[in-house]
Amino acid sequence: MRKKLIVANWKMYKTPEQTTAFFDEFLPMVASHDRDEIVVCPPFVDLPVAVEAAEGSNVAIGAQNVHWEKEGAFTGEISAGMLTAIAVTHAIIGHSERRQYFNETDDTVNRKLETALEHGLTPIVCVGEVLEEREAGLTEDVLRRQCMRAFNGISAKKAAKMAVAYEPVWAIGTGKTATPQMAADAHTVIRLEAEKAFGKEFADGLRILYGGSVKPDNASALMAEEEIDGALVGGASLDPKNFTRIVKY
Ligand code: PEP
Repeated sequence: MRKKLIVANWKMYKTPEQTTAFFDEFLPMVASHDRDEIVVCPPFVDLPVAVEAAEGSNVAIGAQNVHWEKEGAFTGEISAGMLTAIAVTHAIIGHSERRQYFNETDDTVNRKLETALEHGLTPIVCVGEVLEEREAGLTEDVLRRQCMRAFNGISAKKAAKMAVAYEPVWAIGTGKTATPQMAADAHTVIRLEAEKAFGKEFADGLRILYGGSVKPDNASALMAEEEIDGALVGGASLDPKNFTRIVKY
């Protein structure tokens, strides 16, 4: 049995003060919830207050991005060592918004994944097709390519902590959700690609999350799919009550 992982991606929302207010309300509501793992990924400036608020709780804190180099002249970037230094434990890598607006490629995703793993972070690697690719019947090809390149040169031993999020780009922030069956089919493709890269045992244990307009009213149908090992939640994770309803699907 794979324990499900429910991850909040706040994107570019909330100040430190708003972050504190979120945790004040959210933590008591999920305090006794141990069926699933819960992670919240706020913007970088909110990470210290988030880590402090969540200390000793059942909620872990993740970053939305991480650079592949240890340090250097990379203005505006944050290293894995900086994140672990403040007790951040997870990092989203290759979110489609990073790929779309900040020129992330399969190659940078691979480099970031390798560095995150080296530093003991739990990476959540995002893959997913755009609408034109789905309509052209290319979804499987795209997922295979993204996974193959992301996993390139990484050993099963090193990748142990990794999770993957299937996020069809056409479903992110649009209110359109993949059907549970569509998501399950895509997850099967990703799991097969993980098997090719890391072996069957690894692939069987790999957590593959679904992301794309997950809301309180569709979470339980999605989470009922055996192939769906959790959710990456954008918009609906900003409100503590909504996110609690998703966590408790
Ligand atoms: C996301 O940001 O990863 C996401 C899935 O967003 P939303 O839930 O708003 O579609």
